[in-house]
Amino acid sequence: TKSEGLKVVTDVVCPFCGTLCDDVKVVLDGNRIVDTMNACIIGNEKFKSAQAGHRVMQPLEREEGTTQFTPVSYDYAVEKAAQILAKAKRPLFYGWSSTSCEAQEVGNELAEVCRGVTDNTATVCHGPSIMAIQTVGAPQCTLGEVKNRADLIIYWGCNPIHAHPRHMSRYTIYPRGFFTERGFDDRTLVVVDPRPTDTAKQADIYVQVEQGKDYEVLDALRTATRGEDIPDVVGGVPKAQIVQLAELAKTKKFGLLFFGMGVTQTIGKHRNIDIAISWVADMNKYTKFSLIPMRGHYNVTGSGQVMCWQSGFPFAMDFSRGYPRYNPGETTSNDLLRRGEVDAAMVIASDPGAHFPVSSMKHYAKIPTIALDPHYTPTTGVSNIVIPSTMVGVEEEGTAYRMDNVPIRCRKVIDGPEGMLSDEEVLRRILARVKELKGLPAGQ
Ligand code: SF4
Repeated sequence: TKSEGLKVVTDVVCPFCGTLCDDVKVVLDGNRIVDTMNACIIGNEKFKSAQAGHRVMQPLEREEGTTQFTPVSYDYAVEKAAQILAKAKRPLFYGWSSTSCEAQEVGNELAEVCRGVTDNTATVCHGPSIMAIQTVGAPQCTLGEVKNRADLIIYWGCNPIHAHPRHMSRYTIYPRGFFTERGFDDRTLVVVDPRPTDTAKQADIYVQVEQGKDYEVLDALRTATRGEDIPDVVGGVPKAQIVQLAELAKTKKFGLLFFGMGVTQTIGKHRNIDIAISWVADMNKYTKFSLIPMRGHYNVTGSGQVMCWQSGFPFAMDFSRGYPRYNPGETTSNDLLRRGEVDAAMVIASDPGAHFPVSSMKHYAKIPTIALDPHYTPTTGVSNIVIPSTMVGVEEEGTAYRMDNVPIRCRKVIDGPEGMLSDEEVLRRILARVKELKGLPAGQ
């Protein structure tokens, strides 16, 4: 490739999903990404989106009551954002999952100074898992332990082939580990899902649960594990299959339960996870068993980590009383928006315009709003101030946390567009100006 003037950057970290692959190669022609190697189709698209036409190239302000945007300078956008936030009584800061821990840290301080609420995408994702872990604990491990030891993999309510495409090849089913030398042949794969997904098609055992009946099936599995009797059919699953799964799990050396939106976002929500964790804990009486939530964005886990270190709570953190408070259901973004309890909002590295219910976005469209994002999205379309930024993991380095809480440093591969600021820098400038407007000392 040298003769063509191309360069390959190795050990690049993919800033898309919670698998946080760190073996990607990016092929560059000068400052242009030509191709990627090892990344899945989604990761490849994310890298290439750095030079896509839907990049926001300049800060924008929406004219009052219209859908017209006017280009403005960074100084002007920062000033306007600071004014909105300094004036607000209870602003919401939402997003955080697709930016660096360094930016998250500054953002949480901004929320505190503004006496606002800071909340990440866990609120619509694995927030219920966090609530369950806070109730009953979390027997967890890292993905390296899975690769080297696990001989039973259960994917419950998740579809990694589509959502975490390299999860199975890097950690769970296919790799040859230290104690799993035969790779695929050393492992049994169980998939629980109402739909026969592409992941389910790979399974040794496919359990077709009725939609919304996971709690019942987990409860029956727990009961069967104890050797007690269960009904003939539970949640559409025959007794024989539940008993078979309970008995099979006991014969394995190291079992792993991976779970996703099929249990966190269906009826029962955090209680589904509560009973799943309780079953995993029970299983440790017979063998070794562990669980890992299939965290979505590449750094949603990092946002929870940073919030916890700074103020003690992993999401939905409310500073309106001057000290951190946490009460999901009350201080979560959708609850605040739907009840009209916030009077300004800033969205950072996230797209609630596409992914929140309309009932929430109706309030967002009525209040002064700021969006900080490298790309045009349904959220930027309804925000008052749009501030573009460089892409972490492509044009900016920064820390991210994998789904199993392992920190990995994302690399900078190319330079961002000329004059483009990072999320961290934009947040620092807004924070400094808000402190001035509120007459607070400038120091950290
Ligand atoms: S599996 Fe996830 S982290 Fe890995 S390359 Fe694909 S999108 Fe990126």
